[in-house]
Amino acid sequence: MSAPGVDKPEPAVRCVVIADLCTVAGLHIGDGGRLLMRDRIGELAKLDREIELPSQGDPNFESEYSTVATAHDGKPYLPGKGLKGNLRAWAREHADRELVEAVFGNEDQVDAAARAGSACFCDAFFLACEANGRNTPFWSPSRCTGIEASTAIDRRTRTVAARMLYHEEIVPPGVRFRVVVRAERMRDDGIALIRDALLAFTGDPLDQLHPRLGAGRSCGRGLLKLLPGTLRIQRLDADALRHWLNAIPTPHGVAGGSPTFFESIIASGKGLIDPKSLDAGHSRTAPPARASLVLGVSLAFSGQFLVNNTDPRQNHNGRRSPKQTGGVGAYEKKPDHTPLLSPDGHALLPGKSDKGVLRSQAERIIRTIALSHRPNLTDDDLKQLACWPTDPLWRCPALRACESSSRLCLSCQLFGAAGWPTKVHLTPFVADKPAKLARQEFIAIDRFTGGGADGLKFDAGYVYQPVLHGVVTLHLGSPSAPSPEWFVGLLALVLRDLVEGDLTFGYGAAKGYGACTATLRPIVKSERAIEFVAALHGAALGADQFPNTSLSALRNEIQLRLKSIPNGSAAASGGS
Ligand SMILES: [Zn+2]
Repeated sequence: MSAPGVDKPEPAVRCVVIADLCTVAGLHIGDGGRLLMRDRIGELAKLDREIELPSQGDPNFESEYSTVATAHDGKPYLPGKGLKGNLRAWAREHADRELVEAVFGNEDQVDAAARAGSACFCDAFFLACEANGRNTPFWSPSRCTGIEASTAIDRRTRTVAARMLYHEEIVPPGVRFRVVVRAERMRDDGIALIRDALLAFTGDPLDQLHPRLGAGRSCGRGLLKLLPGTLRIQRLDADALRHWLNAIPTPHGVAGGSPTFFESIIASGKGLIDPKSLDAGHSRTAPPARASLVLGVSLAFSGQFLVNNTDPRQNHNGRRSPKQTGGVGAYEKKPDHTPLLSPDGHALLPGKSDKGVLRSQAERIIRTIALSHRPNLTDDDLKQLACWPTDPLWRCPALRACESSSRLCLSCQLFGAAGWPTKVHLTPFVADKPAKLARQEFIAIDRFTGGGADGLKFDAGYVYQPVLHGVVTLHLGSPSAPSPEWFVGLLALVLRDLVEGDLTFGYGAAKGYGACTATLRPIVKSERAIEFVAALHGAALGADQFPNTSLSALRNEIQLRLKSIPNGSAAASGGS
């Protein structure tokens, strides 16, 4: 509140804020569409004549991929609505409600008094692509996207489920978008709020409030950075606007708010101000403290490691045989399975894969503890403690707004379900050195990955003994709404198994692939994190310290759940 007589600056009559964002991780903002994998492979085949189109019976013949939102130019874009929601979420934590609503509008649009905000967040269109598609599976130069395949772990057999292969189109790192926010009659504190929300894209990606866009945010996706020097603010007050309008020969497009009008402002460069010159009218105090356990995890693989790259350019499957192409001698056959690599050629474990492994281990631990209390529990009973998230009949139902998370099983509460965000976030794991590839030949007695084997023999390219690094974050909530203590206990048991080498990653576990041990280190050196890491690496701690308190909290939670399950339940097994 300003005292009477103190002059508030006049609101800017017109204002445009422009900034360029660049992807630093894969991004998927879906448009609900699906396209055929065989058409995508057809595009690759036009550039590489050795690639064979999938025929009927090939898994790629039928399968589809979910597409990213594309604009009129066929290139991906960031829908303004999503951008606005993201910037609003940041603003809500840093500014008072009145200012946030003046800029972004009322959250509750049903309210009769609801008003629109004074800022208009345009769709952020494609600007440029620095990615060259190297190591990007199914790279499409025309769309500037690749495709990521992710598999799910079948909870019954604990193997990679053959029929559960998902393909998602991904905007790779290095793609730039131009953000344009227009506003009329906006006060300087509102402009400063938009500026600061955009500057949040320069912050620490490990910060819980760092904005992320699109799907898979808990698996390291959707990270963008604000490119230095691209933030521009054009601010025209009434006088400057009048002056400028008078200088325009044809008064075309003067109608308020028309895009051409704003575009002409942008083009004119008129009213450009130093973005730093605006005083932040909003609170400069830090948002309410939120605790996180942020752990660096290094996975040291003891032997072969392979996450399959299914791109037909990379492996022998889907390529014509030497005979067909007429190649003699000089033709070097590519391996049937090729590892997925980062754009700079390092071994890579995508965030979705590593999270799936940790989650499935958490489910197993919950069931084991439950069975140690009540050995006669049926599958149906166990589902209430840890469901089968990949099975539509056996997973927790989607949580509607305002419903309590206690309706979810324990693993969904920690790892997320439809309508309930996960508390565990993972980054992809990447090797510190470029991968040295080796090959191994197999006799195709059984199928290695579900992909077709060529004749009786097939071979796999793999990375030998890589060390992969990534970050696991557990959100512990705010002082007013802390996460339950058993979250820490469950994650501790999962990570202890990881440290001890009980978990495998990637393909071919039955053939000795993907075995590793892990070391942890606290990245954000909180007391909690230091204690957590010490305990998992075998240091002795007092009885009232972690992990004992967290582990007994987990056991109590499981016992509490078991009380709601009738003893000797003869509940019908099968889906419910
Ligand atoms: Zn569940």
